[in-house]
Parts: sequence; structure tokens; C-alpha cells
Amino acid sequence: MTEKRYVSYSMLSIYDECPQKYKFHYKEGLAKLYRQEKPHLSFGESLHKALEDFFKIKNIKDRTKDKLTDILKMVWVGKGYLSQEEEQQHFHAAQHLLEIFYDTQDITVTPFRLEEFFRVPVGDFFLTGRIDRIDIIPATTDKVEIIDYKTGKFMPKQEDIDNDLQMSVYALAATKKFPRLYPEKISVYFFQHGQKLTTKRTPRELRAIEEDLINKVAVISSDSEFSAKESQFCKFCDYLLICPLMGLAASPSGVKTKVEEHLDKKQQLEEELKKTAEYYKAITQDLYAIHNYSLNISSTLDIKVLAQKVSDAFREISAASRSALFLWDEGEGKFIPLECHKMEIADNFYVEEQKVFDSVKKCNLGICACDSYSPDNPFSYIIDESLKIKNYIVASLMAKDKIFGLMILADISGPLPPTNKHLHILIMSLSDQSAISIYNALLYRYAIYDGLTKLFRGSHFQERLKQEMTRVARTGEKLTLIMADIDNFKKINDTFGHVEGDRILREVGREIKSKIRASDIAGRYGGEEFTVLLTATDRAGGVCVAEAIRKNIETNIRTSDNGQVTASFGVAEYNKEIRNPSDFIKMADDRLYEAKRSGKNRVVGL
Ligand code: GH3
Ligand code: MG
Ligand code: MG
Repeated sequence: MTEKRYVSYSMLSIYDECPQKYKFHYKEGLAKLYRQEKPHLSFGESLHKALEDFFKIKNIKDRTKDKLTDILKMVWVGKGYLSQEEEQQHFHAAQHLLEIFYDTQDITVTPFRLEEFFRVPVGDFFLTGRIDRIDIIPATTDKVEIIDYKTGKFMPKQEDIDNDLQMSVYALAATKKFPRLYPEKISVYFFQHGQKLTTKRTPRELRAIEEDLINKVAVISSDSEFSAKESQFCKFCDYLLICPLMGLAASPSGVKTKVEEHLDKKQQLEEELKKTAEYYKAITQDLYAIHNYSLNISSTLDIKVLAQKVSDAFREISAASRSALFLWDEGEGKFIPLECHKMEIADNFYVEEQKVFDSVKKCNLGICACDSYSPDNPFSYIIDESLKIKNYIVASLMAKDKIFGLMILADISGPLPPTNKHLHILIMSLSDQSAISIYNALLYRYAIYDGLTKLFRGSHFQERLKQEMTRVARTGEKLTLIMADIDNFKKINDTFGHVEGDRILREVGREIKSKIRASDIAGRYGGEEFTVLLTATDRAGGVCVAEAIRKNIETNIRTSDNGQVTASFGVAEYNKEIRNPSDFIKMADDRLYEAKRSGKNRVVGL
């Protein structure tokens, strides 16, 4: 018997997306080279596994919310997280999603199948895959509902689901595997939205789907060779700038015939060919390396981790022994050094936007290379004589027509761009990739942090408050909330102006941060109001922390005429009677009001 090939949904969808990518994944096993642990994969895996185990509980009474959380704890896959704290956050997010599932979906059902593997014959191949859940539709014996769980944020429209290949594949696989059952409903449950979309495939549609699949697989099967292209642009996908397969294996055209026709030239041509092969090999390796760096840097949103990864990657491709990465800071309105390697740049050093803009204009395609120090060089206000630099390259990191960073590489061994075209292209590619990742990370940071005080924005604080309240309601841990408000701030603004007001807000943010632990959560709640959530802390502890912050503000912060700045504080401890975040905030706010009413510059905790 001849061996049948296996065809899966992901294989079909990858081929639809880009046949080159398909080759990359399935033919050459290259995907393995780039495989890395990803938080979103472990997140989804954990949710699936928790629900699988949960629905296996026979006694419905035992299917409680707490049980679901316990199962999640037990099956939690902790792969790919940057830090313990990040993993904690993801765990709480997963728990929250399961709670929504518990509240909105029928948890009393006994599914017919859970995480069901299938391998069914279609045409001359096996269709394989896994269906998350199959339920027998109540009051029927021969109709089922196929359920697929999606953990990502994206939620398609109904019409997308109606035409979706994955749903079609599942419906077809189910009818093949269970011929007596008809998939009356095919549903997709979106965790992030707590919603379900349902579609259907008629028996007639299923026959057409089967025929389509057979044709599609025939196309893939006959498309086993992907010829090398002479162009450097991939005809399948002009979007990916860096693709390890892009035009790499192209050999100079006509070489072979010349070899045959001119035997005397054979040796010379073979040498040329060898050199070309080596050249391509070197480019291949560099492109693979850049591809790897790109995957690596696009996997993080933490700007500090990202800055380090980006700097390491740039130093490696350019053989530079020193580097400095300047990033745009929206709150401060200037470029500041974030990651320096063997380059001494003062922490409070910064560069104005206009200066960077003027220098970048003088660069060659965004890259400036200087083989010695000179005060006339475009970036000499950063790379001054005291740094004792032999040579350097500055690459501007641009995304969405805006400069987000400057990558400075120094003491490079080997020739510099533009003579070294190869390095020029590599740096340009890596600059583009890095800029996009930095842009995303900065967007994420703006969304979460207040630019002025570097504390969480009110909206994100509220989100965290909700999570913490859910958590302590279960664990019984203590949780204390501080609300603070600067005293007579309107007067300070009116007297000294908004710039002075902003400076004071920034300093208050700094004083708050200096008195709390890493696990505490501080936010700028509104204009001149601040909130601090102290984990594992009771009321008395909260009063102490508030008092310490109050004292520091009073002692350390001054208006420009040396006047004292003070703030008032309300402190409240969580208890089971507090139903929701706004009640908790109100409790602390009432005490803050009492602190104001009784004379300001004080802490009220009862
Ligand atoms: P109280 O002691 O009772 O709290 O009085 P107050 O003057 O501090 O309180 P009020 O709420 O009347 O005034 C708050 C002021 O904070 C008004 C507003 O102009 C100012 N403010 C809000 N956001 C900002 C900001 O981002 N920057 C600056 N400079 N001022 C801000
Ligand atoms: Mg105030
Ligand atoms: Mg106020």
C-alpha cells in the first residue's frame, strides 16, 4: 500500500497565504530553526487544557468557578514569559477570561468529544487536525455542535465565519469521522469578547468543500519545486522585506552554457561561480541572522528589553564593539539614551528633536558613516572627542514617517558603508525591522503609562484594580488603596504657570514611586490626583506608606519661589462588602475629602 500524505488546516492556510512560506514551514523544516517559546501560545494552550479538564468533571455541582481556577493553576503552561510579573499578569488575564466563560456559557453540558483528534481519508490523502469540542445538540441524537475556542483579540464578522476554511475543514472532518452525526452548528467562541459566532455548512456545501480540498491538495502536490528567481524580489509576497528565501539561490544566468561552449574558460568560470556561491552563502547567513533578530525583537513589548535586543543585534551584524541607542520620549519631548554599551553617555544627556531631524537629513538613506572623529560630522553633538571613537555609524530608526530612535555603532572592524554595500543593506533592513518593533512598544507604553509622571494611566489602573480585587476576593490577601491629591494646585498653576505645574506633577510621581514596592501599582488617576494600590498590605501599613509619601513631598518638592508643596491622602482597606472598583475608590476618596476638609497636608485612614 502506498503511503498517504497528511493534510492539515494550518498547512492549507499557510499555502494560501504564501507558497514560499509553506515551503519554508513544511518542506524544509526551517520553521524549527526559528521556533521560540511564545507567551500567546502557552496562554492559549493553558485555556484549552483547563476547559478540557473542567468539562470532564462528571458531577455538575463540582463544576465551580474556584474549581476552574484551580484547574488553570494546575495545567498552566509557563513558557515564553519575560518575567515572573509578566507571567502573573497573563495568568490573571487567563483566569479572568475563564470567569467570563463561566458566567456567559452553559457549563453544565457534557460534551460528546473534547480536544478530538481526527485523521480522515479525503481523496488520496488524510485530513488531520483537532477539534476543541463537539456537543450533541440538546433534544436531538444525531445533530452536533462543533465548538472552536479562539484566544486572540481579533473577532471576525459573521460572513467571514460563514466562508472560513477552518470551519469548513472541521465540518467535513466531523461528518467523515462520525457519519451518523450531522454538524448542525459550527461555533467559534472568542474568549476576549465572551461571545460566540455560529455558522453552518449544508450537506451540499460539504460536498463542494471536499472537492475544493482535493483540488487544492493536488495543486500543492504538483507544486513541489520552487524555482530560484533571478530578481531579488519575491513574486509571491512583496510585503516581507526580509525573507530567508527571497531570491537567494539564483545563480548567474548563462553560466552553464558558457562553461560548455568555452572549455578554456571553464576554470575561470568555476572560480567565479564559487565566489558567487560564497557571496550568496554569506548573504543567506546574514539574512537568516536578520530574520532571527527580527523574530526575536518583535516578540517583546518591554521597551528596555527591546532596546537591549536591538543594540545587541546591531553590534553583531556590524562587528561594532561599542553602541548607544537613543529613543524618542514623548513625555519629555526629546531623544534620550536608553541603552549604552561601552560608551559613556551621562544619564541626563538628551538631544532635541530638531537637531536629530537636521542631522538625519544629511545622511545617506538614513545612515551616516564616519571613519574618524570630526566636529563637522552630522552627529558630533553626541559623538564628541571625549568618547575617543575610531569610527562610527549612526542609523536612524524610522516608522510611520517619524524618527523614533538613533542607533549609534562605534569602533567597527572592517569597511564602512556606503563602500561596504553589504553592511549598508543589512543595517537598513535591521533599522526598518527595529523601528517597527520600537514603534509598537512605544504605542503600548503610551497606552498604559502617563507620559508626564510615568505612572499608569487611569484606565489601566482601573483594569489592574479590578484584577487585584478579583484575586484577593479569592485568596483573602490584604489590599489597600491610597488616593492622593495635591493641595491648592490650581493656585500653583495660576501663580507659576503650567510648565511649573507639570514639573511638580512629575516630581510627585517620582516621590510616590520611591516609597512603594515593585509589586504595588501606582497611577495618575486624573489631573493632580494619584492612586496607589498596595498589595499584601493592610490599612495601618497603607497609612504608613501614605504618610511617608506625604512627608517626602512636603520636604523635597518646592515651587520656584521656594514655597512648600503638599498633598492630602485618603486610605482604604479592601473588605468583602466592597462589591466593585468604584465603591473601593469612593471609600478612599471620601477619606481624601475628609483630609482636605480638616486642613489638608494629612493622611486620613478611618
Ligand atoms: P485642593 O487643595 O482642594 O485639591 O485644590 P486644588 O486647587 O488642588 O484643586 P482643583 O481640583 O480645584 O484644581 C486642580 C487643578 O489641576 C486644576 C487644573 O488646571 C490642574 N491640572 C490638571 N491637570 C494638569 C496638568 O496636567 N498639568 C498642570 N500643570 N495642571 C493640571
Ligand atoms: Mg488638588
Ligand atoms: Mg483635584
